[in-house]
Amino acid sequence: MPRLGVLGWPVAHSRSPAMHNAALAAVGLRDWRYQRLPVPPALLAETVRALGSAGFLGANVTIPHKHAALELATEASPAAREIGAANTLTFAADGTIAAENTDAPGLIAALERLTDMPAHPRALVLGAGGSARAVVWALREAGASEISVWNRTPERAQTLARELGVRATPVPAAADLLVNCTSVGLQAGDGVQRSATQAEALNQLGLTFDQVGSYSYVVDLVYRSGSTQLLAAAQSHGARTVDGLEVLVAQGALSFELWTGRRAPLELMARAAREEQQDIQPS
Ligand code: NAP
Repeated sequence: MPRLGVLGWPVAHSRSPAMHNAALAAVGLRDWRYQRLPVPPALLAETVRALGSAGFLGANVTIPHKHAALELATEASPAAREIGAANTLTFAADGTIAAENTDAPGLIAALERLTDMPAHPRALVLGAGGSARAVVWALREAGASEISVWNRTPERAQTLARELGVRATPVPAAADLLVNCTSVGLQAGDGVQRSATQAEALNQLGLTFDQVGSYSYVVDLVYRSGSTQLLAAAQSHGARTVDGLEVLVAQGALSFELWTGRRAPLELMARAAREEQQDIQPS
């Protein structure tokens, strides 16, 4: 039985299994299975090296393993190398482990829904972790006219900005497009942080409710049941928004196509991801 999975710690609430298992069944790969792989950092290397011989053809990678996964791979795409993180591993029969990053093209695919967005928007990215790196790289490749990075820990924003050739900003800068790549907005019980009021959550992002109104397009990588505090604020100001599940589906579809060679059934994957009512968790 060909197997796929998602490596993470924690990974209990990931919506990727529901999304991928629905897609596998829909394209006729009924004996394939996609499962959660809860693996603590100390066991990641031995697990990744054993997955191929255990029948796994591929795995998604989420918090906190994306950087380590790239290091463990025997080959990597130029994008994964430049971003410095992998969210997709493919295991070949000869023991090769190939690393790819579908978070970056997934974001760009999800942005295509914002049809009236300027072709070369000014972008503000909040966060400086693994997903922020992928998002900055993707926006740069897609021709954003200006990219600013703000982070709670400014030194990390400065390092990311230097490495990817964009600019770090000490306070959230003016832009057309705002992308939240922090984990602010995850709910209590996610193992990351407790839920916050809207004002508290926006404050953690260096923003007030009124300031959110200056961004016409807002994307939140965080997903949960209902809107995040950031998206709720953006929507009350009339901004066009993309939520984390749309990005999850877009990156998952690209991984699916890489592993199976089949066209991903996007609408079905979106439905399966949204129908799973449990709260939060990354790809
Ligand atoms: P990460 O590498 O751990 O980075 C976390 C980021 O969040 C850092 O910039 C960190 O700032 C910031 N942060 C955490 N707690 C904060 C707080 N209380 N106040 C302000 N900033 C805070 O994580 P990641 O892999 O980039 O993922 C970030 C989020 O994106 C996660 O919620 C993940 O679920 C989501 N995600 C979603 C998708 C999707 O497909 N929808 C894909 C990838 C990631 P410091 O540097 O100051 O610690």
